Amino acid sequence: MIFRQLFDPASSTYTYLLADGGEAVLIDPVFEQVRRDAALLRELGLNLTWTLETHIHADHVTGGWLLKQRLGSRIAVGAESGATCADRLLQTGDEIRFGSRSLTVRATPGHTAGCLTYVLDDESMAFTGDCLLIRGCGRTDFQEGSPGALYRSVHEQIFTLPDSCLLYPGHDYRGLTVTSVGEEKAYNPRLGGDLSENDFAGYMQALKLAHPKKIDVAVPANLQCGRPGKGVDIMSDPDWAPLSCTFAGVWDVDPAWVEEHCGTVQILDVREPAEYTGPLGHIPEAILIPLGQLAARANELGKDWPIVAVCRAGGRSAQATNILKDAGFERVANLPGGMLRWRSEGRIAEGGSG
Ligand code: FE
Repeated sequence: MIFRQLFDPASSTYTYLLADGGEAVLIDPVFEQVRRDAALLRELGLNLTWTLETHIHADHVTGGWLLKQRLGSRIAVGAESGATCADRLLQTGDEIRFGSRSLTVRATPGHTAGCLTYVLDDESMAFTGDCLLIRGCGRTDFQEGSPGALYRSVHEQIFTLPDSCLLYPGHDYRGLTVTSVGEEKAYNPRLGGDLSENDFAGYMQALKLAHPKKIDVAVPANLQCGRPGKGVDIMSDPDWAPLSCTFAGVWDVDPAWVEEHCGTVQILDVREPAEYTGPLGHIPEAILIPLGQLAARANELGKDWPIVAVCRAGGRSAQATNILKDAGFERVANLPGGMLRWRSEGRIAEGGSG
């Protein structure tokens, strides 16, 4: 099984990727991270079948709708969540399959009335959303929150899993990543040890939490599974060439397109002069500016034409695209695989041997 924990720094939200047999699910994807998540799925060769929400979030907009538009995934949310957009409404005991593995749903209300925890088939991992956080828990003071319900959810649905079961929360604000049932039973300062439901309610009522900044935008959008309202940027990809964004955050351009459009893009070769004239040769009319000089010499390039950066194997040229973006160039892409791939595909070149 493939497992990845992904983080959105703006909202301190964790997104989880689980996959088996080429089929993937994402738990709690974030709207602004859809491009990143899609790049990772592509690089790992995975087909996204489901996006799963632990609840209707108040602090960020889900990526469920946008992923469905881009990748054809289906959306599952809690039946009690109030969302009207889902392909599947989940209740306790429901299973979501991916490859030969599955997640089982447990309703864990309290933070919201519709909160779910997803438990992996062998009970080695559970995804608790904002019900149980690492040494904490979600707030219970809005969205039909209830301290009593949360206390019972944690004790009856999460603390009944094996002590060794790893717990992955929906957020962490200190950079902590994972805990376990045994740890939280012993050390959760709100819910662990001998703390009673009344102790917990007193603790929660004494918290004076600020109103979440994004709640007025996030909750209505999430009730539509993250479908944006009119006028919201849906992060359309640049379309001046066939481009794909890598998980590393670089825009790669299709080499065949570059070969066909040599005359209408600037080819920027960032190798050293000896490489430019060396055995691999260079792309006709490529402008030579070694990477180490690029920041100082970027003004030699024009902004009217797109730029494709090239080097030997595609590493230095990826860095060149970042340097050019910092210098204010917008239409910039990397030639993946560099001259090595270009030559191995038999594309047009000047100089060099073989
Ligand atoms: Fe939440």
